[in-house]
Amino acid sequence: MDARESLKIALKTTADRIGLLAEMGIESVADLLQYFPRSHADFSDVAAISEIRAGESATVAGRLSFIKMNRISGGRWLIRGQLVAAEDAPRFEAEPDAAHGTLLDFAPRAEPASLDLVWFNQPYVARALKSGDEIVVTGKVSRLGRRHQMLVSSFENFSGELRHTGRLIPIYRSHGKVSSKWLREKIFDLLRHADAAPELLPDSILRQFQFPARGAAIRQMHFPDSPESLKIARQRLAFEELFVLQLSALTRKLDWSIAAAGRAPAIHATEKLRAEFAAALPFRFTRAQELAAEEICHDLAKSTPMNRLLEGDVGSGKTAVAALAIFLAARAGQQAALLAPTEILAQQHFRSVLKLLHPLGIRAELLTGSTTEKSKTEITGRLGAGQLDLIVGTHALLEERVQFQKLGLAVIDEQHRFGVEQRLALQKGSSPHVLNMTATPIPRTLALAIFGDQDVSIIDELPPGRQEILTRIVPAEKRLDAYRWMDDQIGQGRQVFVVCPLVDESDASGAKSAKAEFDRLQKTDFQHRRIGLLHGKMKPKEKEAVMADFSAGALDILVSTSVIEVGIDVPNATIMLIEGAERFGLAQLHQFRGRVGRGQYKSYCFLFPSEDGFEELERLQALEKVKDGFELAEIDLRLRGPGEFFGTRQSGLPDLKVANLSDQNLLRATRELAEEMLANDPQLSQQPELQRAVEKVNRRFVESRAD
Ligand code: ADP
Ligand code: MG
Repeated sequence: MDARESLKIALKTTADRIGLLAEMGIESVADLLQYFPRSHADFSDVAAISEIRAGESATVAGRLSFIKMNRISGGRWLIRGQLVAAEDAPRFEAEPDAAHGTLLDFAPRAEPASLDLVWFNQPYVARALKSGDEIVVTGKVSRLGRRHQMLVSSFENFSGELRHTGRLIPIYRSHGKVSSKWLREKIFDLLRHADAAPELLPDSILRQFQFPARGAAIRQMHFPDSPESLKIARQRLAFEELFVLQLSALTRKLDWSIAAAGRAPAIHATEKLRAEFAAALPFRFTRAQELAAEEICHDLAKSTPMNRLLEGDVGSGKTAVAALAIFLAARAGQQAALLAPTEILAQQHFRSVLKLLHPLGIRAELLTGSTTEKSKTEITGRLGAGQLDLIVGTHALLEERVQFQKLGLAVIDEQHRFGVEQRLALQKGSSPHVLNMTATPIPRTLALAIFGDQDVSIIDELPPGRQEILTRIVPAEKRLDAYRWMDDQIGQGRQVFVVCPLVDESDASGAKSAKAEFDRLQKTDFQHRRIGLLHGKMKPKEKEAVMADFSAGALDILVSTSVIEVGIDVPNATIMLIEGAERFGLAQLHQFRGRVGRGQYKSYCFLFPSEDGFEELERLQALEKVKDGFELAEIDLRLRGPGEFFGTRQSGLPDLKVANLSDQNLLRATRELAEEMLANDPQLSQQPELQRAVEKVNRRFVESRAD
């Protein structure tokens, strides 16, 4: 019998609901037991109706004496109900030991009391509730004549659940007919199976951290005895999740190093070669570049292919470090490829790398979608014959006909834009050393856990003498002043980026769209200037053309969505204006800011919050003060969580139920313990349950990469 069938039997439910559960990712009893509540209702805070006061928010339990729905002006719905403190209002029994809390008592009060409830425009409420239901409501209370009325912000239906004891009642994320209430009942019944949940953590770790057994922790996650036991259960399960994630990352890396051992050319960085490169360099590496170069040289010297992620702010000198690796490969008789996500970036890389490598006699060519057929044939010919040391390009490099004589090194810029199959295609049977570069400042502990099979080098300092970009939040009343000043700068020959959160017409939230802003600026404040529009829905050719115009100075202002984020180098652009700034993450705003300040001119970043965006001022203020991308990324992770931090740009994030990827201490601790465990038992043969869990994560990782 498969897991889904046994789930159906255990739940005594319909195929319909089983289908809904599957949509929620629940396909087995074990999955359901790990469908943890989004919160708990704390009944120690529940008030009696007679206790509530106008002007305050309250949580109240009672019985619905009626509920009805009416249409009001504008086609909107008004739902009204009345809550009474009836005899059979939910009575949650107090724990036998009431030492750390007051006894709960929902027994009828002396005086009968009632509370009017209202909901606006939520017709589903009238379907979800009926008179006689025992519910708990939360909302703001006001006084209407002699009566109290609550504008309900949330409610829970507890009808028929009087058997649940304890003060913390789980609230689950619902999905159609799979309501929180339904889940609560089913999970309550199934929890007797929780003890059968296999233990994943070894005894030594359970003892070291005084963790409860897995089954006990799962039970406490749903129906905790106390807030403390809930907290301990969370800690244990979060630890377990990250521990498994780390083991998965480390075993993948170990497996790869065994499978690929001896398949890459050993490229040696002798003192002499390093000195030759340094002498040709028009500057000295920063200390951070020096460290990253050290790590890379160490990897290159091995015949196990390097798989390293090089992180660093825009302009921190990643490409210069990559140039050293390319130089070393060439001197070792190997070829290198440098891949960029767009044609313009490829051209830029080609120019900047060539500036460093041409004096050293490196033979390089550029190959992109717009390279003519004739040149393509000529270039691939030389590549195959070993007459080129380096090829720089876009996806065009991944075409079948591009054959290397000896590909020893692949440098991939902004790797998350390339799928893994594409990287494999590049390798074409051989296993070159791979260096991924990214300007997304992911803290090291996090990068190791999620890109675990890669090693990580970080360049966390900018070359000396860089100008600071003056960053200011601009209040609405200063907008015109800012425009006037910008116009003056344009008059002096400078250029401006304007970034908007959306492509199309403003949505209800009032966020600006690039198209509308482009029209508005053209018709009003900047009619006398040349303005371009750029967004992700344009065809690649159109995008390239606009970018090229802006690069060439044929446009004064470029209005764009976030597509310019990993964009171009236009030294003449000195102003970055961001509309709806609070809608972006700090790390992303920092990337935008990195688009300016690349030339000799003083540069500026203006943040325009939306009208209702001033609440997030504090978050934006971090940008005025903090100039370091890694520091901003950490603040961002802490404030918004990993989902928002990575946004849609970075798929393949592990699906964690309890753990928080911004918990650096836990990431570090689990990493160390996982390393220790694998050092003694690389196959995890002494921990079969753990081994199974790790394999499951690894399978999911491979699948997610294959999408
Ligand atoms: P990234 O790839 O991280 O954006 P680059 O390697 O392209 O950075 O470097 C940005 C600019 O700074 C380039 O013009 C490069 O020549 C220059 N540069 C790189 N490293 C240094 C350094 N240590 N000192 C001075 N200038 C540097
Ligand atoms: Mg770069």
